[in-house]
Amino acid sequence: MKYFAYTIDPLHIGSGGYRLGRVDNTIVRDPGTNLPKLPGSSISGVCRNYAIYQLEEKEQKEAIDCANRDPKDDKNNCGKCIICKTFGYASGQEKKNQVGRVKFFDGQIVAFPVATMIGPVWVTTASILNEIGGQGTPPTGDKLLAGKDLIQEHDKINLGWLYMKLEEAKEIQLPEEVNLADNDIWKKINERLVIAPEWLFPEIVNSNLEVRTSVAIDFKTGAADSGALFTYEAIPRATLISFDVVIDEYRCNEEIKIEKVLKIVQSGLQLFESLGLGGMNTRGFGRMKVLNLDN
Ligand SMILES: [Zn+2]
Repeated sequence: MKYFAYTIDPLHIGSGGYRLGRVDNTIVRDPGTNLPKLPGSSISGVCRNYAIYQLEEKEQKEAIDCANRDPKDDKNNCGKCIICKTFGYASGQEKKNQVGRVKFFDGQIVAFPVATMIGPVWVTTASILNEIGGQGTPPTGDKLLAGKDLIQEHDKINLGWLYMKLEEAKEIQLPEEVNLADNDIWKKINERLVIAPEWLFPEIVNSNLEVRTSVAIDFKTGAADSGALFTYEAIPRATLISFDVVIDEYRCNEEIKIEKVLKIVQSGLQLFESLGLGGMNTRGFGRMKVLNLDN
């Protein structure tokens, strides 16, 4: 199953324990492409926690007891509750572990919002569009491609500091089969897509990330530490991200059916919209709406 998510807030998934007072808290990137990514382990971990809120009473009680186990006892997960059965578990003392019945893959940026002289556009590449099941033709040379309606009379646009030629794309669209044709966010992005050359895409994304400066709080006194400003980067709001979730059908049975696993996963993903994920989500960070959940 391929999910599409739209960021409501800036999203910061730190590349490794950010410390207050340290300047430059970077986000996780794919080492091959240098593009920011959303690690599958982060999606899975947050989904696991949020799914507990959505369980019915008996299952929820077992899952909360499991989540409250003291890691000092070297017994992390119970292995018996519905959350362990879905997402997997590891128990140190009993030397038992089990991978989950569901696997989450890394989320990638599909369409990245940039302000331009013709209004907001969402930048993507031909290979991304084709990989997610949409359609896109690559530009020849250093040009941008867009749909006819978006181009109108413009033959050049700016993307941040870049000023580039704009031509009509033969094919440019998000996948049709995900049943989002009536979704307003999806429609708007689809109408305002711009295809960039492959080599330029990481540059466009990385130079248009949200960078903010904040004041460090001294946890002992609760006061702002006036000398300790720190900066951090984030994927901006209005970014379209996709990630794959695969359910291991062969390990689903009468005890836990595939429909049940799917329902639990989707119930967790549903709360990304209100509770968010990533670091600093108490500061208006990290909320994202998964667009194609079955309801
Ligand atoms: Zn458990």
